[in-house]
Amino acid sequence: MTGFPCELCPRRCMRRPGFCGAGDGPRLFRWGPHFGEEPPLAAGGGSGCIFFSRCTMKCVYCQNSPWSWRGEGTDRTVGELAGVMRDLATKDGCSNWNLVSPTPYLPYVRAAAGILASEGVRLPFVWNSSGYERVETLEEYRDLCDVALFDLRYSSDETAMRLSQAPEYVRHARAAVKWAHENCPGAPGGVPGLIVRILVLPGHSAEAVESLRWLAGEVSNEVHVSIMAQYTPAYQALKLPPLDRKVNRGEYEEVAEAAEELGFANGWTQDFSAADPKLAFLGENMPAGAGPIGES
Ligand code: SF4
Repeated sequence: MTGFPCELCPRRCMRRPGFCGAGDGPRLFRWGPHFGEEPPLAAGGGSGCIFFSRCTMKCVYCQNSPWSWRGEGTDRTVGELAGVMRDLATKDGCSNWNLVSPTPYLPYVRAAAGILASEGVRLPFVWNSSGYERVETLEEYRDLCDVALFDLRYSSDETAMRLSQAPEYVRHARAAVKWAHENCPGAPGGVPGLIVRILVLPGHSAEAVESLRWLAGEVSNEVHVSIMAQYTPAYQALKLPPLDRKVNRGEYEEVAEAAEELGFANGWTQDFSAADPKLAFLGENMPAGAGPIGES
């Protein structure tokens, strides 16, 4: 797996390092049990999150910029990655392996999972992603996608380019969601195979509503949706109105009400009044290494 011509994400760089900056081995920033994910994922011993360094998107409002943009973290061997996954399963008692932005590292995750399978250690995989994925990659690595936790972040390619440098985001993310709906089996405890996250961005609530309309019309309104109020200005967005503020109550309610009108009955909305900036989970404040997620 050295210097392979990388086509894992829609950018298809054909070289490493490419756009995301990932090298020839897994690079991890933080891992540990997370109890703040959607309830079925966080049940039991929590969701065993692994935050990989680097990302295939470059969002101006990224809350994880130290490791997503700047690549902070530590290079690990496949054996060490297997050790992290083993600890999450056997020491922490997590309910799943929640791979956060794993796409550049899929071959290494599969290799690590192979080591653990030979020991009889197996948890369901959650593929936790911006949704900027290739269907061909999802097909090839379907064994790592029991549950797709995918964003539908934009319904305009112009916005996706401007805010995340992601060409043709809408086509790719929607195809990924469709694929997941048809293919992901889910996990024990009633965890659905697909959860679509709708992060309401300030000034962009109409795009979130449009994503919901597409989902109801082209996939199903039975899909579990998670409508998120927690946007917190960070990184470059601190100087980019309207992204320099929290989402307001009117914007959030517009999206939540649209979900109700479209017949979405499965999923989660957030208590808007609880979405206090002081309480928001800001990844950029999280230390590296092992430990619970969302606490420091
Ligand atoms: S995963 Fe990284 S290197 Fe591979 S195609 Fe995507 S951006 Fe390029």
